[in-house]
Amino acid sequence: MLAEPRTWHLDVAAVRDLTPRMRRVRLTSPDLDRFDYLAGQDMALTFRRADAPPVRRRYTIRHYDRDHRLLDLDFVLHGDGPGMKWAQAARPGDSIEVVGPRGKIMLVPHAAWHLFAGDATAVPGALAMMEALPRGVPALAFLQVDDREERQSVEGAWGPQISWHYEEQAPNGAAGLVASVAGAALPLGRGHAYLAGEVALVTALKATLQSRGWAAEDISAKAYWNRGRANAGHGEPELKAS
Ligand SMILES: Cc1cc2nc3c(=O)[nH]c(=O)nc-3n(C[C@H](O)[C@H](O)[C@H](O)COP(=O)(O)OP(=O)(O)OC[C@H]3O[C@@H](n4cnc5c(N)ncnc54)[C@H](O)[C@@H]3O)c2cc1C
Repeated sequence: MLAEPRTWHLDVAAVRDLTPRMRRVRLTSPDLDRFDYLAGQDMALTFRRADAPPVRRRYTIRHYDRDHRLLDLDFVLHGDGPGMKWAQAARPGDSIEVVGPRGKIMLVPHAAWHLFAGDATAVPGALAMMEALPRGVPALAFLQVDDREERQSVEGAWGPQISWHYEEQAPNGAAGLVASVAGAALPLGRGHAYLAGEVALVTALKATLQSRGWAAEDISAKAYWNRGRANAGHGEPELKAS
């Protein structure tokens, strides 16, 4: 059963760069032992600003450690925006108001296999969901990041297939990623796809799968951000992918 979202007051316990553009902020609180979630869900962080109304930004839960009351969120350091700036400046002891767990995209248990695709913002969720799969369930991921230094590995010995694509080879475009999803050899049986990232990318990925005959109910698609436009105050892009 899905846990009800609630408001948490969390402190930064640690900050570490996983790659040059992906920063992990580890959050903690004495009552985090009562936290519960499903892989794929996210948290909405509230950023209060002196000169403007507060805004929320959403980040996928990458890891949760109940014993040590730690929650890890991974931030793409993309350049601008209250979420990115907060992560860039975060130091142990900082406090943040967080609402969650949020989100209805999570592993579909009856799927024979799973496909993940998206950009750097989709990496935390794709890796978290792949790590939560029962061992041996086939999983493929198609992920576009800046360059080879942005690659990450899935924890555990069991190895899903990750096909990395690099923005430096296709600035502001994802034709290579979309073509790779269009032409990929897929496992037999009824799979489920999880698509996340920039609005236009998610739209293109969804259309590609549908043109391969995928039914809408086998695709969970979520637009995370919109190129050139800040997300709305509730944390989602103004324009949603179709
Ligand atoms: C359910 C959900 C889960 C998400 N999980 C994660 C996650 O785990 N990690 C993560 O990093 N993001 C995640 N995102 C995306 C993140 O919330 C957005 O990227 C958000 O716009 C970041 O807020 P900001 O304040 O930094 O930038 P904003 O104020 O929203 O935008 C400022 C400017 O930055 C640009 N911008 C925003 N994001 C990016 C980007 N990634 N790359 C390049 N330019 C960008 C905008 O186009 C705009 O021009 C998630 C979003 C949703 C809805």
